Amino acid sequence: MPCVFCMIAKKEIPSNVVYENDDVICFNDLKPITPVHVLIVPKKHFDDILDLSATQEGQQVMTAVLKAVPEVARITGVESGFRLINNCREDGGQTVMHVHFHLIGGIKLGAKML
Ligand code: AMP
Ligand code: ZN
Repeated sequence: MPCVFCMIAKKEIPSNVVYENDDVICFNDLKPITPVHVLIVPKKHFDDILDLSATQEGQQVMTAVLKAVPEVARITGVESGFRLINNCREDGGQTVMHVHFHLIGGIKLGAKML
């Protein structure tokens, strides 16, 4: 089955790209829950964060994700604060099975889960 985020990474379907480099593509979520809602997505397919963390290659990709965070925060103007969320697998509420991180902000965030 085609993976929608692989297709976005290959520019086979459009997205609103905020930041991109060789390793990651960061684009606006289709259904934003906050004024800033960007998905940070490795270009290479990993199913989820457990898959990503299982190999040395995945760990290097995770470093690329980490480096993308301040870039996205700067570009979207949320350096005053934001939240980074990963939903993992079915019980974690993951719906797109290509690992991704939600960077949300642009308002004073309430409703902390913990
Ligand atoms: P999750 O529920 O954590 O797997 O998050 C999947 C996210 O992907 C949801 O917030 C969707 O709104 C978003 N999404 C799904 N398809 C697209 C797309 N084509 N472009 C942008 N965001 C998308
Ligand atoms: Zn994929």
